[in-house]
Amino acid sequence: MTERTYFDWNATAPLRAEARAAVLGAFDVTATASSVHSEGRAARGLIERARGQVAALIGAEAKEVVFVSGATEANALALTPELVVRGRQVTCDRLFVSAIEHSSVLSGGRFAPDRVERLSVLANGVIDVAALKIAIAQAKTPLVSVMHANNETGVIQPVAEIAAIVHEAGGILHVDAVQTAGRIACDMAALAADMLTVSSHKIGGPQGAGALIMRGVQPAAALLKGGGQERGFRAGTESVAAIAGFGAAAEAAASTYEAAADRMAALRDRFESLLRIATPQAMVFGAEVPRLPNTSYFSAPGVKAETAVISFDLNGVAVSSGSACSSGKVTQSHVLTAMAADPALAAGALRVSLGWTTTEPDIDRLIIAWKRVAAALLKRQAQAA
Ligand code: PMP
Repeated sequence: MTERTYFDWNATAPLRAEARAAVLGAFDVTATASSVHSEGRAARGLIERARGQVAALIGAEAKEVVFVSGATEANALALTPELVVRGRQVTCDRLFVSAIEHSSVLSGGRFAPDRVERLSVLANGVIDVAALKIAIAQAKTPLVSVMHANNETGVIQPVAEIAAIVHEAGGILHVDAVQTAGRIACDMAALAADMLTVSSHKIGGPQGAGALIMRGVQPAAALLKGGGQERGFRAGTESVAAIAGFGAAAEAAASTYEAAADRMAALRDRFESLLRIATPQAMVFGAEVPRLPNTSYFSAPGVKAETAVISFDLNGVAVSSGSACSSGKVTQSHVLTAMAADPALAAGALRVSLGWTTTEPDIDRLIIAWKRVAAALLKRQAQAA
């Protein structure tokens, strides 16, 4: 098989060795974590260890962590009008979500569709904080959901500033920290989030585990009711192996992310400078504001992202496109639409996302593949002219 180079870490990260060992170890425990016998207590021990590891990653307390199947479920659990805020039942009259959120947030959770409002975003990919302040001022108890960093552009959002505005307005803040936990500093208290979502598979844990971290604010009712697992917030037998792997990944990420971030930023910057040399007309979305160190979202005139992704793939390189293809129709990225990007450039938007094992030779392979894609494009354009 030809050598493959993976640049799609914002979609999912490879399993860390520590997580693999924890998953395999947990498969040898034959019990549910609810059983009182020794085997059950062993399973419970693995889950509680993971709870502490995930809590430590984001500066939370173990008792604030509820394990669910992934970030999609954590978002769905958090986004409900009926909340318990510091012991008091509260009904949020409206949900405000930024226009660049993941679809699991844009869908509005348990809010009626006419109660969900979208907040605008500036052309640089940052949420329009002034507009947010005006929008939520009319709501009695707004629930606001924003992401810490965007999965396509990597643009880091001013969450602490937003938190101050939301709390001043008597509202509640939920933060989707899927792309930042374990990648850059992501601290529950520094962000002043009331609820925060984390996903296992973005940090080198297995797919199928995630967590909602709740500080003083809880959904009044679970999404899944039944056996009362996870303090009644999420019924159903816990996936001990997935959760144990999630915990191990969180612990590994906590001790290594700073050095990894510096390394990735240097490699990403190297990629972008080589890209600009190879294709001076190329533009990088969100380049002028703080971004995740591992993400580059770029385009060049004439590129069709869907075909470019296939060309990269044939050259042994996995990247992703901003546009989505469903039923044969290519739709523009909602993130680039919210940023009012030029539709011709948006059609060619490609995302390259790096990880902790990415090397300089990987970047060289990426650039070689890009030059081939760009050369084929120029040839087609010349033939068409
Ligand atoms: N939020 C963001 C910002 C994401 O990038 C993703 C994954 N693409 C999700 C939520 C959903 O995560 P999960 O796959 O764990 O459901």
